[in-house]
Amino acid sequence: MPIGKIREKVLFGIGKARGSIHRYTWWRWIIGCAFTIGVALLPILDILRFDLWSGRHMWMGEQVDIVAAAKAFAFPFLAVNILIVVVSRFFGRYLCGYMCPYGSLARLAEWFRWREGTGKSRLLRFSSMIGVSLLLTAITFSFWVDWRVFVEGSALAVNLSSAFLILGTAVLAWAIDRLGLTFCHDWCPSGIYFAILGPKTSNGVEFAHPDACIECDVCDKACPIDLLPREMEFDDEAHERPASGLYPDGMTNHGLCIRCGDCVVACEAMTAPYDTPVPLRMGFLPPEDERVRPGLESAPTTSSD
Ligand code: SF4
Ligand code: SF4
Repeated sequence: MPIGKIREKVLFGIGKARGSIHRYTWWRWIIGCAFTIGVALLPILDILRFDLWSGRHMWMGEQVDIVAAAKAFAFPFLAVNILIVVVSRFFGRYLCGYMCPYGSLARLAEWFRWREGTGKSRLLRFSSMIGVSLLLTAITFSFWVDWRVFVEGSALAVNLSSAFLILGTAVLAWAIDRLGLTFCHDWCPSGIYFAILGPKTSNGVEFAHPDACIECDVCDKACPIDLLPREMEFDDEAHERPASGLYPDGMTNHGLCIRCGDCVVACEAMTAPYDTPVPLRMGFLPPEDERVRPGLESAPTTSSD
């Protein structure tokens, strides 16, 4: 069974059994929606738009020429990128796990697929995927073309604009539905950038209580990008991974982790019946020499030991 299918069953099955939405899921939707709305408002409020159709470039509510718009935008663009570099360097790929609109939509697609597996409508899934993909394509479109093109534009301008919206929606819906979150592991250029920036961070998933692990392996199955959550803290050669998609050889679980917390959600659910601490946790990590190496220090005794 492909990783996505196992993961859907594991996570949404767990979610249903819990009967409540996990705090990580709440945070993801609150941050993801706030970020998407914030970005969408920039061209709507004429804060920023490069209008390739009529040349009505906007910056902070004023119409300017394209050079002035580019110059004005350069500083905030640089500032945001420096912030991203700093956040990624010290905290890892939290941006991928909590802020990326693509990631949020890929999770929505997983949820629809899981519902479909439980007998819910395929039409609902299809129309929802098209709807949200059209919304994201429309937000992108707003940055580059004034919507008045559909009223005042020539036939060519209207056709080109329509083609962009239709093609963009189709490609995005296909990617979200078919590639899902594996895109974040193998193909996302921003993800590579963040992963390379933050190989050794003080933050991430910790296998804090190996002695409480029941070795169910559900954390591995829940990981959307096929990592090994119990080996997250170690960033040495022994934990390097082979090249995959656009990602080069030698990246570690820790560097690639998008800090989504799905493994922790799964682990909390699997160990809930036992009176033990939760083996996995996410947050600040202890100093490297104080971390517990599974199988070496306090890992549980197995039959092969
Ligand atoms: S290891 Fe855990 S937190 Fe990291 S990507 Fe996988 S499931 Fe998400
Ligand atoms: S989900 Fe938790 S208990 Fe199960 S294997 Fe992973 S760390 Fe161990």
